[in-house]
Amino acid sequence: MPKRNKIIAVYPGSFDPLTNGHLDIIKKASAMFPEIIIAAANNLNKNHCFSLQDRLSMIKEAVKDIKNVKAAAFDGLVADYLARINSFILIRGLRAVSDFEYEFQMALMNRNLNAKIETIFLMPDLDYTFLSSSLVKEIAILGGKTVKFVPPCVEKKLKLLRKR
Ligand code: ADP
Repeated sequence: MPKRNKIIAVYPGSFDPLTNGHLDIIKKASAMFPEIIIAAANNLNKNHCFSLQDRLSMIKEAVKDIKNVKAAAFDGLVADYLARINSFILIRGLRAVSDFEYEFQMALMNRNLNAKIETIFLMPDLDYTFLSSSLVKEIAILGGKTVKFVPPCVEKKLKLLRKR
């Protein structure tokens, strides 16, 4: 029988920074697929708070104990990145109906760009449905506690935002 390639699922995003909501999606996906790549976008059009290097190192530290999860950076279109690494599964998180319209549009556009792509939407546990990277950054800048919302390595970096 011909050898099948391992199925790789890609979870792309800004992860500016990674939150416990992202982590919940990553854990759920890692139980479903043999290999997950968390792909941090190097999108020069977006004004990121953390550098690509910082975002990647936070992701790597947070997932270091999950065996089938890796982190990588990518430039350009997600659809092209998937083709380059021979993946056809794209993971996205859906928190609420408000996420749906944008995510639905993105999924259809990605399929249009690369017909092989299937987007799989995962819902986080209820505790994470209100969490977003931008809210967490705002709380940190205004001096609030973010320890419940992000992994410890991200909390350390968020504390530095307060001192900027
Ligand atoms: P992007 O800039 O691509 O939206 P994000 O890092 O904000 O990047 O989000 C990446 C993915 O993770 C998106 O599908 C988003 O809906 C999802 N996501 C973000 N926060 C959460 C959360 N708290 N729970 C579940 N999914 C989430």
